[in-house]
Amino acid sequence: MKKLIVGNWKMNGSLASNEALLQGFQQGLEAQDQSVLVAVCASAPYLPQLQQLLGKGPIAWGAQDVSAHESGAYTGEVSAAMLRDFACRYAIVGHSERRQYHGETDEVVAAKAQRALAAGITPIVCVGETLAERDAGQTEAVVKRQLAAVIHTVGHCSSEMVVAYEPVWAIGTGRTATPEQAQVVHHVLRAQVAAATVNADKRVHILYGGSMNAANAASLLAMPDIDGGLIGGASLKVPDFLQIIRAAR
Ligand code: PEP
Repeated sequence: MKKLIVGNWKMNGSLASNEALLQGFQQGLEAQDQSVLVAVCASAPYLPQLQQLLGKGPIAWGAQDVSAHESGAYTGEVSAAMLRDFACRYAIVGHSERRQYHGETDEVVAAKAQRALAAGITPIVCVGETLAERDAGQTEAVVKRQLAAVIHTVGHCSSEMVVAYEPVWAIGTGRTATPEQAQVVHHVLRAQVAAATVNADKRVHILYGGSMNAANAASLLAMPDIDGGLIGGASLKVPDFLQIIRAAR
């Protein structure tokens, strides 16, 4: 399976800075980077810009969230069909910042994943434990519960789905899980995917996210069950993001 590197720009960017970043990525990609799948997830207003600038090139694009509802009286929400209109390949769902600041439950995240899949968009389902949960020895139970909600709602483990293991204590903190710590959890998630649907474990990418950067990407990506990365801060810097892509070759 090709490795998948996804940038999550979070609530950053402007027309001008996005254009500079995307030009930097496009100019910096080398022929060998074709062995890596690359995508960028931007705030919704910039999706037409991504569609225009990335076009049919090698970098895909996606959203950072999607509504759990199909359409109607949900002011401020963006539906999966709207994302489809702008050719989004991916939508992040259940990022810990949405679970934490917007009260998204496992059930809401599962409904979002289902909406994305129904519209032909690959949901990047984020799971991960807080520091308190890790310290209490609950890491495995938490990530399994979060993923189980999605598998239950969708009815199986779609091979069109991506899972991202993002320990909450590692996001934006500069504190990365060690490759060994991440591998343990990825192995658990791989087994859960396999148990849910025959052969899904061979097709579903399981990404690591949480302060992945140019310096630590290679050692994380060398782990047998780490199929790529979800990159926050480092995806806002051209040389860093390119170096992570190179580490994934
Ligand atoms: C993220 O937002 O998904 C993330 C992993 O952020 P960072 O790389 O900045 O920790």
